[in-house]
Amino acid sequence: MHHILKLALISLMAIVFMAGCSEEKQGSSETKEDKLQVVTTYSILYDIVKNVGGDQVEIHSLAPVGSNPHEYDPLPVDIQKATDADAIFYNGLNLEAGNSWFEKLLETAGKAGEDAPVYRMSEGVEAKHLTTKGKEAEEDPHAWLDIRNGIKYAENARDGLIAVDPEHKEAYEENAKVYIKQLQDLHEQAIADFNEVPEEKRFIVTSEGAFKYFSAAYNFHAGYIWEINSENQGTPDQVTKIVELIKNKKPSALFVETSIDPRSMEMVSAETGIPIGGTLFTDSIGKPGEEGDTYIKMMKSNITVILENL
Ligand SMILES: [Zn+2]
Repeated sequence: MHHILKLALISLMAIVFMAGCSEEKQGSSETKEDKLQVVTTYSILYDIVKNVGGDQVEIHSLAPVGSNPHEYDPLPVDIQKATDADAIFYNGLNLEAGNSWFEKLLETAGKAGEDAPVYRMSEGVEAKHLTTKGKEAEEDPHAWLDIRNGIKYAENARDGLIAVDPEHKEAYEENAKVYIKQLQDLHEQAIADFNEVPEEKRFIVTSEGAFKYFSAAYNFHAGYIWEINSENQGTPDQVTKIVELIKNKKPSALFVETSIDPRSMEMVSAETGIPIGGTLFTDSIGKPGEEGDTYIKMMKSNITVILENL
C-alpha cells in the first residue's frame, strides 16, 4: 500500500512537471531561457520592440499600461528583470526623468556603465523643447506621436537587438522592414486624412502638452493645461490660461488622455461650455484586447478620434 502510494505520487509529480514544461513551450519553438531578455521603460516601447524582436525576445515593461512613465517607482521585480536583462530600451528626451527613477534603476541593476546594453529609442530624433518659462532647455519627450519618429524608434530597436544578439540579425532586419512599411503607410494615411480638414479647424486641446511633434508632423496647433506630466498639473493659473485660449479659438471639442486623470479637463469643459469629445492615447498604449492596444492601433485611434471631433 505504502509502495503504491509512493508510485502514484511520483507519477503525479511527473505529470505536473510535464504540464509545466509544455506550457512554457506553447506557441513558440524556443523556451523562455533561450529568448533574449529585454526590458523597456513603458508600453509604447514594449510594443515597438516586440514587433521588431518577434519570437526571439521576452519583454518586461516597467511602467504598466495606462500609467505615467514620466514618474515611476520600480518594484523589486523590475530591478530583478533589469539586472538580468540582455538589453534595456528607454525613450530618453527627458521622459524617464521624474525623480531620476530610471537613472537610479540602472545603477541598482548594475547597468549604468558606458558599455551597458542600454539603448535610447529616440536616437536620431530632432528634439523639440519645452516652452514654459524657465524650462526652455528641457527636451519634450513625446516624439513617438509623429509616426516618422516611430520609424526611427523601430530602427533603433532593430540596431540594439542586433548589437546584443547578432545571431538573429536577419530575423530582426526582416521584422523591422515589415513593421516600418506599416508605419510608413499609416503616416501617409494620416497626412491624407488630415489634409481634408480645413486649416482653421486644426486645433486640439489636451491636458498635457504632448502634441508638439504630432502638431509639427500633421500641421496642427495644440493647446494644453500643463506642458509636461512631471510638473505642476492643473494649477488655477494654468486653467485660466487655457480657458482664455479656448474662448478665443473656439474648438468644437476638447480631449482627455487615457493615462491622465480627466478632472482638470472636466473643469475646463465646464468653464468654457466646450464638450470633451474623446480620449487620446499619449504616454501609453491600451490594455491588451482593448482599444489602441498596440502603437499602430493607438495612433489609428487618435487619428479617428481627432477627425471625428474637429
Ligand atoms: Zn507625457
